[in-house]
Amino acid sequence: MFFKGDRKSIELMVNAFDFFTKASGLMMNRSKSNFYCNGLAEHLIKGIEDETGMHRGTVPFKYLGINVSPKRLSVLDCTCLVDKVVDRIRGMGARKLSYAGRVVLIRSVLSTLHSYWARIFVIPKTVIKRIESMCKGFLWHGNEQNEGPALVSWDSICQPIKQGGLGIRKLHEWNIAALGKYVWWIEQKADHLWVKWVHAVDIKGKDWKDYEPTINSSWAWWKICQVRTVLRQVLYGRNGPGGSYSATQGYKFLVPEGEKVSWYPWIRTGWIIPRHRFLIWLVAQQRLLTQDRLQKMGIVQTNVCFLCGVEEESHEHLFFRCVYSERCWALVAT
Ligand SMILES: [Zn+2]
Repeated sequence: MFFKGDRKSIELMVNAFDFFTKASGLMMNRSKSNFYCNGLAEHLIKGIEDETGMHRGTVPFKYLGINVSPKRLSVLDCTCLVDKVVDRIRGMGARKLSYAGRVVLIRSVLSTLHSYWARIFVIPKTVIKRIESMCKGFLWHGNEQNEGPALVSWDSICQPIKQGGLGIRKLHEWNIAALGKYVWWIEQKADHLWVKWVHAVDIKGKDWKDYEPTINSSWAWWKICQVRTVLRQVLYGRNGPGGSYSATQGYKFLVPEGEKVSWYPWIRTGWIIPRHRFLIWLVAQQRLLTQDRLQKMGIVQTNVCFLCGVEEESHEHLFFRCVYSERCWALVAT
């Protein structure tokens, strides 16, 4: 909203603020709200403060802990994001949690990032790599230091459960898919102040589908245009969204689902407790640290099964061939 800086403009702004508050049904606390202006005389700014009860804000300001600015976000700007992940991981007695418990916590941490930050900011790749590395370290080693081998790759973990993963979403791809919403709004000329602004100031009547930003365009605007290019096929292709676009559609395009795994029914069963479900998930992929794998990694000298003390300990042997296991199965079956 532009202000000429006279008394009438101030009254207009107060009326507009009241209208918005009533129309949106939001309870807004004026003393906690800021207004932003440029080039106004100090006495007029004071007048706005007195009339509205709001304070003058300065740019950049923080939203969700991050500086809101059209400039490129730096790694330093995102420190709060990384700190939040570390706090959550350290604060939950992570080391004491089972693998299944850690997966629940990772889902919770990432879903917060997916729901808020990734829908608003272009999160730098370095920050995303750091956050995902911490999640990997937490899952496999119980702390944010990602030192040591992972039993299953992050790419596999990020597949849907039917496709053999844990249904965790990749942050970078989700970030692009979520920002695709803005591209869609522009395409639809949605009734949104920001959309009206970019049509009036940046696009200026050109065809948005083929619009190219200029050298004077902001970094954030370049990024939105890049998102449109990356998602062009899903936004404008033959299999496009038609009357709507959702981040989930964009994500499925960026991270295609693999084949459904044959062992999905093993982990689908409802009565398995989560801890056992995770172990079955590892067994199905032959990723338990059995003696034969540990020997190949050079961690142990012998590959002999601890249960029978005779044969090589592999997944096949441990669960189906070992005489000790056979006795256990027989007891369970009786
Ligand atoms: Zn054995």
